[in-house]
Amino acid sequence: MNGVSIPLPSKDRTRRIMTEDNSATNIFRLLSDDTRLDILRAVATAQHELGDVGSGVAELSFSEIYEYVEVENTSKLSYHLGELAGTYLRKTDQGYSLTHAGERIVRFILSGNYEQPDSFGPKPVDGICVFCGKEALEASLSHQFFRIDCSVCEQSVTGQPITPAQVKTHDEDALIQSIKRRSAEVTKQIRSGLCPECGAQLSTRIIEVAKTPLPDADSFLVTSTCEECLRRYNNPLTYSAVYHPASIAFHWDRGVDVTSRGIWEFNEYLYDSRWTSEQIASDPDEYEVVLRHESDAISLVLDSTATVRRTERVRRKKSDFQRS
Ligand SMILES: [Zn+2]
Ligand SMILES: [Zn+2]
Repeated sequence: MNGVSIPLPSKDRTRRIMTEDNSATNIFRLLSDDTRLDILRAVATAQHELGDVGSGVAELSFSEIYEYVEVENTSKLSYHLGELAGTYLRKTDQGYSLTHAGERIVRFILSGNYEQPDSFGPKPVDGICVFCGKEALEASLSHQFFRIDCSVCEQSVTGQPITPAQVKTHDEDALIQSIKRRSAEVTKQIRSGLCPECGAQLSTRIIEVAKTPLPDADSFLVTSTCEECLRRYNNPLTYSAVYHPASIAFHWDRGVDVTSRGIWEFNEYLYDSRWTSEQIASDPDEYEVVLRHESDAISLVLDSTATVRRTERVRRKKSDFQRS
């Protein structure tokens, strides 16, 4: 975020790629067959049409799948089901259902998330530029990436990947709202140590960055790395803390739903130092994030893994919060 780059933790990627390459090839080889893709689509379609509400994952019998797939005969279907079982289909005495890999592949195909989405913007959005402080932000979509840029200083303020289905099924205003919500959900998952891509445990640390646009407000970055899928997430420390339940409740009590705000709409709080972060202890390291709202504030103390250890609501005289 905000264009800050951090070196990846060193890791022996060569070893990993070599050991996993063969099995990955085999897994994709299973899919390069029209009938098998039809079977996966048929299982999803049949589950969608036959599944009763509240019945959980519907298991489909051989004959139910046969109804949905155009295949020459039952022995052909039996062969292809055998190929898919274990990797893409779960087979029990009750029938077939999708495994995790089956779910990911079939939802990806059905949603058309491999297609190129329509372009979008530039569309003016609320919030101020973290670099120049001007209310001149514009949202646009380029190469499947949603970005917010400043039309005055022309800096890139923030950006995030977006799915083609998200673009296809929302109008412009609803799309921006969906991006805000999704970004809040992703940040909450990261905060709880869960990789939003693959579900593995994230390793998280806090680093101080030299080149930040607002060093007085927040010069710390929370960097969370997934050692399984190699995805990495960076968030300013204040943004990471704002989705803690104590902060969500604090803001909710004051009429602000932070989970429906875009990350770029938080910039004004940093820009006028209503939100700040600082390191308050070393060995072990502790950090304090203070989020101020009018004459009230919430203080969150975090450890070196960005886990919130304690929170406190504070009420102070307004003058204490004004920028000197
Ligand atoms: Zn600007
Ligand atoms: Zn992951």
